[in-house]
Amino acid sequence: MHRITLGDFELTAVSDGTYKLDGGAFFGVVPKSLWQKKLAADENNLVTSGLNSVVVRTGDHTVLIETGIGNKLPEKMIKIYGQPAQLLNNLAAAGIAPEDIDTVINTHLHFDHCGWNTVLRRSTVVPTFPKAKYFVQAGEWEYTHGPMDRDGISYIAANYEPLIKSGQMTLLCADQEIVPGVSVQVFPGHTRHMQAVVVESGGKTACYISDLIPTTAHLDLVWGMGFDLFPLETIESKKRYYAKAIPKRWLTMFTHDPAVPWAYVEKDEKSRMVAVGA
Ligand SMILES: [Zn+2]
Repeated sequence: MHRITLGDFELTAVSDGTYKLDGGAFFGVVPKSLWQKKLAADENNLVTSGLNSVVVRTGDHTVLIETGIGNKLPEKMIKIYGQPAQLLNNLAAAGIAPEDIDTVINTHLHFDHCGWNTVLRRSTVVPTFPKAKYFVQAGEWEYTHGPMDRDGISYIAANYEPLIKSGQMTLLCADQEIVPGVSVQVFPGHTRHMQAVVVESGGKTACYISDLIPTTAHLDLVWGMGFDLFPLETIESKKRYYAKAIPKRWLTMFTHDPAVPWAYVEKDEKSRMVAVGA
């Protein structure tokens, strides 16, 4: 478990485990001869991807950013990805009960980012965090109603539709503060309406940049994932992010890095982006 203070806030990185992804899909047009130096592939060309959530304790609020894969995957997807389902165990190990969470923010609704929003109990899908308000961009949810010719397999309605129906999930229409010190900013590219979560306290800032920069191996502007729906927008969004995050020394939180939940991004003497430990 990784824990750090940011001003008056406490950040705890909590993992849902790891899963395997095709290395080619993970690095898009980047040649394997380059990416395999950063992330080793197994005999089936699979690489290990992390599932990092972050709990922000502000003093007044306990905010959970992202909810991993969860435990409701269909059998066919378990065969492809496995189903580690470690988030609740790791939250408990960090001393955090589901009832403690009052705010859940999903950056987008792909299955590996909102899986523990809900849980199956006695053949009914119920909210995993009963006291929480959930937040996602309205455009992301509207997109799930199709057509999703490219990434339809990545959307599992049980992760969000019950929360929409019950009114527990709020649909946002733009950048917005969610609770004091925690806000969302839309960064298109991976999906049209993916939002990052910006945490600010005591003059310090951290940002959960989600699938815009999923791991420390994806820092380079053109090292985008093959999964990105709008790869050119990914590059523009990364530029916009770095223009703020590097000079202002934001702590970047990585959704899929199996080893590094957060780091500072800096430019080295050759103007390459590098991750520097927090
Ligand atoms: Zn995604």
